[in-house]
Amino acid sequence: MAAIEKRSREDWQELDREHHLHPFTDHKDLHKKRSRIITRAEGVYIYDADGHKILDGMSGLWCVNAGYGRQELVDAAAAQMQELPYYNNFFQCAHPPSIELASMLKEVSQPQFNRVFFTGSGSESNDTIVRMVRTYWDLMGQPGRHTIISRDNAYHGSTVAAASLGGMKPMHKQSGLPIPGIVHVEQPYWYGSDHSLSPDEFGIAAARSIEDKINEVGADKVAAFIGEPIQGAGGVIVPPDSYRPEVQRICDKYGILLISDEVITGFGRLGEWFGADYYETRPDFMPFAKGVTSGYLPLGGVFVSDRVANVLVDKAGEFAHGYTYSGHPAACAVAIANLKILQRENLIERIREDIGPYLQRIWATLEDHPLVGNTRMVGLMGAFELVKSKDPVERFDSKVGVGGICRDLFIEHGVCLRASGDAIICAPPFTLSYSEADQIVEVTRTVLDKALEIVKP
Ligand SMILES: *Cc1c(COP(=O)(O)O)cnc(C)c1O
Repeated sequence: MAAIEKRSREDWQELDREHHLHPFTDHKDLHKKRSRIITRAEGVYIYDADGHKILDGMSGLWCVNAGYGRQELVDAAAAQMQELPYYNNFFQCAHPPSIELASMLKEVSQPQFNRVFFTGSGSESNDTIVRMVRTYWDLMGQPGRHTIISRDNAYHGSTVAAASLGGMKPMHKQSGLPIPGIVHVEQPYWYGSDHSLSPDEFGIAAARSIEDKINEVGADKVAAFIGEPIQGAGGVIVPPDSYRPEVQRICDKYGILLISDEVITGFGRLGEWFGADYYETRPDFMPFAKGVTSGYLPLGGVFVSDRVANVLVDKAGEFAHGYTYSGHPAACAVAIANLKILQRENLIERIREDIGPYLQRIWATLEDHPLVGNTRMVGLMGAFELVKSKDPVERFDSKVGVGGICRDLFIEHGVCLRASGDAIICAPPFTLSYSEADQIVEVTRTVLDKALEIVKP
């Protein structure tokens, strides 16, 4: 029995406009054109209220990794809700789904990870980490170590602490962030640099900006460094190969905790279980969310390494932190079923060896288009940049809004990709077929040709 009434598209749009405030939305702008109402989905396709079929090249918001319409996930949630729809993990209680999932997560992660703390989202996971990091150093007798280093243009979520960790200037401006004790260094974005250094030289220099910041703040005051293996919302910024090993070296040298934000890169997106596996780093924390349930229910969490967990367990007494929905039973049941799908269908291997290399190859051919300055893709996480001219790189005036022009053209042509400034981002479900991959790239060519007509001087 559906709980939602049937209404016309116009009715939905009217009610939406009157009553609903949207995330990351300019409402004046939205109300000029009304919302697109998405009503159902199957496989890699979403359908709007007018019946338009759209290939979801973003997996929702980088989360529907196993694709839509997975009856197994629906059944797992329904069965768990029948058995035990809710109970908490406070007050010396636990339940089978949270315990089972925690032990499954240990199996798929690096050996330093034996324990998981559950949350409801990626933002909550990063807030949890800020508290754990600072508590850890207090317990280690170094209470002066509270500063966390992050990067410009990073995205770590929207709560106060997570938005402070993030490096998005417009977010900081709207609410007096960052909170004290969070500082930012440059992002490893070679294509956005002046190209006076080779990518590898640039990667080392970008990593050294962390070391410079440590020296500026004082090594005895720095608690941790946080970074996404590949910056997602900031435009799929793939670091040069030299960057990650140098970051690891610097964290090791100063004894600083390394946080690998795996909210997008976790659970297979790069063709390995985690971005830390892909880049061969050994983090102390990994926040996760999104893909753990393929987005079917909200769930997040934090992998906590033995280095930190042992101290928290032995010395913290009660760590006064937790969420009503930490380890929600139905969400955990869906996560368990989702991990089983990833394993049984070898979806991560498929990204590493099959559909990943295929989409990467055809995606790279877009670089011959006059509007495309740079393409990049690791696993099934990619982007290209729209430029006015290529050599030397000249960007469009932001007033042109070339990213938004393309995004709207994409939807018109039945493909949903996302614009981050002048970068177009692609992160399709892991089940993408060869012909669906072809469709993405063919539509992209059509869109680029039309966009060129519009923005041509
Ligand atoms: C989406 C995202 C978050 C925030 O997760 P929410 O579930 O939206 O709170 C944190 N970090 C990264 C890298 C993300 O992409």
